[in-house]
Amino acid sequence: SKNAVVIGAGIAGIASAIRLAVKGYSVDVYEANAYPGGKLSSFEHTRADGNVYRFDAGPSLFTMPHLVVELFRLAGRNPADYFQYVRLDETCRYFWDDGTRLTAWADHDRFAAEVETVLGEPGEHLLAHLNDSALKYGVTEKLFLHRSLHKASTWLNRDALRGYLNLPKLGVFGTMNGANERRFRHPKLVQLFNRYATYNGSDPYQTPATLNIIPHLEYNIGAFFPKDGMISITNSLVSLAEELGVRFHYNTRVTEIVTEGKRVVGVRAEGMGLGAEGIGLSAEPSAVNTPGAEPHAPRPAPIALCVTNMDVVNAFRKLLPNAKQPERILRQPKSSSGLIFYWGIKREFAQLGLHTIFFSNDYRTEFDYLFRRNELYDDPTIYLNITSKHKPDDAPPGCENWFILLNAPNNTGQDWDAIIARARQDVIRKLSHNLGVDVGSLIETESVLDPRTIESRTSSSQGALYGNSSNNRFAAFLRHANFSREFENLYFVGGSVHPGGGIPLCLLSAKIATDFVQGA
Ligand code: FAD
Repeated sequence: SKNAVVIGAGIAGIASAIRLAVKGYSVDVYEANAYPGGKLSSFEHTRADGNVYRFDAGPSLFTMPHLVVELFRLAGRNPADYFQYVRLDETCRYFWDDGTRLTAWADHDRFAAEVETVLGEPGEHLLAHLNDSALKYGVTEKLFLHRSLHKASTWLNRDALRGYLNLPKLGVFGTMNGANERRFRHPKLVQLFNRYATYNGSDPYQTPATLNIIPHLEYNIGAFFPKDGMISITNSLVSLAEELGVRFHYNTRVTEIVTEGKRVVGVRAEGMGLGAEGIGLSAEPSAVNTPGAEPHAPRPAPIALCVTNMDVVNAFRKLLPNAKQPERILRQPKSSSGLIFYWGIKREFAQLGLHTIFFSNDYRTEFDYLFRRNELYDDPTIYLNITSKHKPDDAPPGCENWFILLNAPNNTGQDWDAIIARARQDVIRKLSHNLGVDVGSLIETESVLDPRTIESRTSSSQGALYGNSSNNRFAAFLRHANFSREFENLYFVGGSVHPGGGIPLCLLSAKIATDFVQGA
């Protein structure tokens, strides 16, 4: 059958491989790392006594599980045989340095009652906000999320028409913070809902109020936890892909997408067993210079199509240097990055949940540091994720696996070692204040991920977590399409292209891209 090549085994690459295999293609996935999943991977710290802390390396919040489930169904499998997850009653716990504590409940009425009791904010304000979020989502979903923005058919149908009529409600012209300040009296609630801008690496003081659709995912569709950790999303989908005959080639970095006229004919890769002769390419010495290659080897058939899951900036700059470079798109400001401390903590804290936030006392200044000064603020908002709350075997008995994420600026060559050392102290100080213990003395294992290592491990331009930022109202139009305008059998998927970053949108990118592809 026809051969399809996928570059990168990030979540969008794996989903694309599954969809292509279901369409009858023979699929090869080439992955630079020794493991699949890209940002959605997992690792362990082993204590001296042999006990283990397990960490999910990247994503910790799971929304829209139906997009994962759909892949098993598409392949005629029973999803529950591969992948199980639960809906969370409690979305997140919020801590402020002044002692305010608020729990965001999945149940709207319970959350509204909490907001009234703790902050004195009328519960109707919250309910109205969540309704508005649902309404905005309904308008944008069909227009932006499930289809290519880059085909006329998207703009010429009834859903689109409904979208245009509702555009004023989308809040394209005001900022998220502006809308939230009009909605809520209490600045803490404004801060809480401003935080959703960070779900795609944006700045609530710049990003349009349209992004107030994000709470809809968490509060209306729901927040979930995969029973075997976030890594089980990657692992279960890789198992499914392998069952469908997809071949994963690890430690294999693609170095070039080879084109002839308007088509991709193959790729070249360095790494295990491939050499420079490439996939789908002639081994004739005139075509490629391969020491030791068979000079008269028969020319393999060109590949039928190629899907690249590599960050789109690097895909153009490194794999397609001779193609037309869509400069306007490639030069858009990037979303924020992250600084993550993974700590094995030798104690349990009943007051902490699966997701806990410790807010900065000055949110506006924090974002000013992130997006204008390219530095980390010394009173950062801290996100703490503890999977051992739901999956006790992720930490030794009586202990917890802490994943601590700070929003961080993009990698522009800052002195990260100095920044990390300072941030570590700031985090320990703030957590110790809020928890009433010396947190520093409880850390028994530690590792760090920073914008540099995010960039080097997943080829993300400047270590951005979600590709371009959404800080301007045209951002949705300035993400690259899921297909190439120059090469008819080349497709783009993943967090740096349409419709955006985060697991759900990456999964949708794979759907949109492969929907263009005819069955093999
Ligand atoms: P990536 O994960 O970026 O992987 C790309 C893969 O392609 C990598 O494995 C890379 O090695 C490989 N590759 C690249 N170039 C080549 C090449 N030339 N040859 C071979 N292989 C190549 N999302 C959420 O939904 N919820 C969250 O809570 C959340 N939190 C996050 C926290 C952190 C710390 C991070 C880093 C991300 C978070 N995200 C979250 C975002 C989410 O992880 C990403 O949007 C998503 O995983 C990106 O998937 P992707 O398909 O774009 O591929």
